Amino acid sequence: MTPLEIAIAGCGPAGLAAALLLRRDGHHVTLFERFDAPRPIGSGLMIQPTGFAVLDALGLAEALLDHGARIERLRGEAGRSGRVVLDVRYAALGRRAGFGVGIHRASLFAILHDAVVAAGIAIETGCTVTGSDPLPDGRRRLSLEGGRSAGPFDLIVDALGTRTPLAPPCGRALSYGALWGTLDWPEGAGFDGAALEQRYHRASVMVGVLPVGRFPGGTRRQTAFFWSLRADRLDAWHDAGLAVWKREVAALWPATRPLLDRIDTPDQLTFARYAHRTLSVPARPGLIHIGDAWHSASPQLGQGANMALLDAYALALALRGAGGARAALDRAVALRRRHVRLYQALTALFTPVYQSDSRVLPFVRDRLVGPVSKLWPATRIQAAMVSGLIGDPLRPLRLV
Ligand SMILES: Cc1cc2nc3c(=O)[nH]c(=O)nc-3n(C[C@H](O)[C@H](O)[C@H](O)COP(=O)(O)OP(=O)(O)OC[C@H]3O[C@@H](n4cnc5c(N)ncnc54)[C@H](O)[C@@H]3O)c2cc1C
Repeated sequence: MTPLEIAIAGCGPAGLAAALLLRRDGHHVTLFERFDAPRPIGSGLMIQPTGFAVLDALGLAEALLDHGARIERLRGEAGRSGRVVLDVRYAALGRRAGFGVGIHRASLFAILHDAVVAAGIAIETGCTVTGSDPLPDGRRRLSLEGGRSAGPFDLIVDALGTRTPLAPPCGRALSYGALWGTLDWPEGAGFDGAALEQRYHRASVMVGVLPVGRFPGGTRRQTAFFWSLRADRLDAWHDAGLAVWKREVAALWPATRPLLDRIDTPDQLTFARYAHRTLSVPARPGLIHIGDAWHSASPQLGQGANMALLDAYALALALRGAGGARAALDRAVALRRRHVRLYQALTALFTPVYQSDSRVLPFVRDRLVGPVSKLWPATRIQAAMVSGLIGDPLRPLRLV
């Protein structure tokens, strides 16, 4: 395909990966981002074997492993009974086994951003995107805050995340979110440096510890610490004060005390609220939505950033094929749609088991699903699900 003039809106994992891939294919790429400088928003996330395959194709696997923490298993216990209700090991996939990488959002951003800068890709910062206008010749202009606009572009890639102004609103906000913080790794406190560990009480209370490696330029290992919370209880949590909350967390999981001791003010924790949404029309002439702008979900299965990377890869692959840009966008969507539908459905199914007011679901989880999940083939199915590999998403992208 002849090189296209492409605007990529959003410097999250989807936008930065798409910029790198499309630039390498010879397209003229400009990134637009509302922030003036990189911002370490949020806390940790997990790169699964799916996202890892894309970062590997970008030549960034080594940097990822250098900054992140290699995760071999996910383990969850019903706090007060001590029952193991989640024990997923990537090794259960046998020869196909991969691993997860716990990484701070800021580190993943830095790895991708450095590569974008090294590739000489233009980034327009301080630009809040407000919309896009189709032109009679099939191209589009990008509208920016303050009455400005940019373009025209042959293609606008919407990587603006779940609240994108380039797509109609859809989906629903979930009642639960979580407080997230980043703390120094508690050496000697007994946490497993190769595991995401969680404790639950019913489905309404959850605390988690995820190793996330170290910040770029830093030497100290970090951990993401999170606490599930209903959005409408956030004010009450603030009003009650840290001491009350710390007592509750420590009662559920005494080993977290050294971490709790490092939290002196509520500002060390950021509340993230989740939404489930999937656009039914992810591409229109001259415009495609990728990553959270197309589909977002609670991070219960930890797939969002990985799906964003896969979407970016599919777009680049589709644009390499024959036919015009319109056909390529349809191809990009076709390459991803099945996997997106599958994981959106799986996440919607599993989220209430871990984050809801239900008493029945956690009861079944703790007494039935937990024990059964330790038996073959459940061990393998769970490992495939967490790895993001159900539906074989890497094959159509030729990443296997
Ligand atoms: C607390 C939490 C934990 C998570 N844990 C995991 C996990 O373990 N594994 C996983 O894979 N995923 C996880 N996710 C999901 C993951 O973070 C997202 O799926 C992923 O970041 C989506 O990437 P994206 O590039 O599509 O969008 P985003 O990361 O949301 O990036 C969007 C970018 O667009 C910019 N932007 C937004 N609006 C505008 C505008 N109007 N104008 C200009 N710029 C704009 C933003 O500043 C941002 O840079 C988690 C999410 C949360 C909230």
